[in-house]
Amino acid sequence: MAKNIQAIRGMKDILPEQTPLWQFLEDTVRSVLSRYGYGEIRMPIVELTELFKRSIGEVTDIVEKEMYTFDDRNGDSLTLRPEGTAGCVRAGLEHGLLFNQVQRLWYRGPMFRHERPQKGRYRQFHQIGVESFGLEGPDVDLEQILITHRIWRELGLDGLELQLNTLGTAEERTAYKVLLVDYFRSRIDELDADSRRRLESNPLRILDTKNPDMAAVVSDAPTLMDHLGDASRAHFETLCAGLDAAGVAYVINPRLVRGLDYYARTVFEWVTTRLGAQGTVCAGGRYDGLVKQLGGRPTPAVGFAMGLERLIALLEEGETAKRLPSVDLYLVMMGETAQREGVQLAERLRDELPDLRLIVNCGGGGFKSQFKKADKSNARYALIFGDDELANGEVGIKPLRGEGEQQQVKLSELAGIIAGLTA
Ligand code: ATP
Ligand code: MG
Repeated sequence: MAKNIQAIRGMKDILPEQTPLWQFLEDTVRSVLSRYGYGEIRMPIVELTELFKRSIGEVTDIVEKEMYTFDDRNGDSLTLRPEGTAGCVRAGLEHGLLFNQVQRLWYRGPMFRHERPQKGRYRQFHQIGVESFGLEGPDVDLEQILITHRIWRELGLDGLELQLNTLGTAEERTAYKVLLVDYFRSRIDELDADSRRRLESNPLRILDTKNPDMAAVVSDAPTLMDHLGDASRAHFETLCAGLDAAGVAYVINPRLVRGLDYYARTVFEWVTTRLGAQGTVCAGGRYDGLVKQLGGRPTPAVGFAMGLERLIALLEEGETAKRLPSVDLYLVMMGETAQREGVQLAERLRDELPDLRLIVNCGGGGFKSQFKKADKSNARYALIFGDDELANGEVGIKPLRGEGEQQQVKLSELAGIIAGLTA
């Protein structure tokens, strides 16, 4: 027999038993974003490779080694999107959404990066991304962090830590990079091979190393925070004051750098210690340079993306996951007439109780076999509709999870009683 074909390494199926938690996560985030006036935008999953090279930058991990790139049949080089910001800016420019106006946008969907698969790190993963364009002040940076804070609250997630830093402007960073490279050269013996390579290409990224042997050399490095201009410092201080006023706790982490060149000023991450090395569940910051870099007029922008697999992993441990709704009722029908009438009864219940989750038995079968299916469906109650019930204008309601005895209920009272049971 031929071997079954399996899913691609690092790309996971999300099964029906898992999707209620995904829906809860996505619905909660969508609801918060719409309450802050953010509109959804949907972009293609594939873009020209050039877009990512120009936006993310050639010397980043993503472009150097993580992209799924292939030639289209007409010879164009295409790439499965590794993140959403580039496509969002591309779409914004293409449709004239960015020039001289304010936009608050969000998107969701799969992203693709060829990384080593492990817990919290996949080759197809999902993000919800949020971007605002046209606002340069720290008020919108604050707004986005407040959004994330509210999302965690409404998801029932606690124990997440907000880490905050500023990367200054491109000019401030250029001056700082000279200092940093000088410093690392003076202690070159302590750098690993990866970092020595980055000394030329992307020295800031060395600060982000995960190599514990480099902890000392990194912690002694000069910080950008100490070399900021007045405007960048004021931007950062205003953001911090806003967070203080809102009662959002944060930790300033001068080692927090984003790999991408287009970032400016604010960067932030929400991290947890509960997911091992893959502890960042949300990352974002200001990227005032990107729109121009992609051919638009200079446009300030700030955004973040959250990693849904990591948030799901956190939610799976919590109480919310246990309270998620499944099926309410499974309708068991015995006899030909009851079968016919039962379908009508189910439709009337669906009319009266719009949120009701009701499965009607299909495929006939005896009492025992229908009850087996009812059990397997995970429904909380079986509704029993047989000849006796039909004759008496009644329906039986039997708890399927050990919550008491079967009761007989008048048809006229059925909807009210079900509403009470499933509230
Ligand atoms: P990391 O340092 O973990 O590789 P990153 O800096 O590459 O993260 P971003 O590009 O900022 O990640 O993406 C935002 C978020 O998307 C991350 O904080 C994380 O939650 C999630 N994420 C990124 N890469 C993956 C992946 N391969 N699998 C699952 N989630 C991911
Ligand atoms: Mg990464």
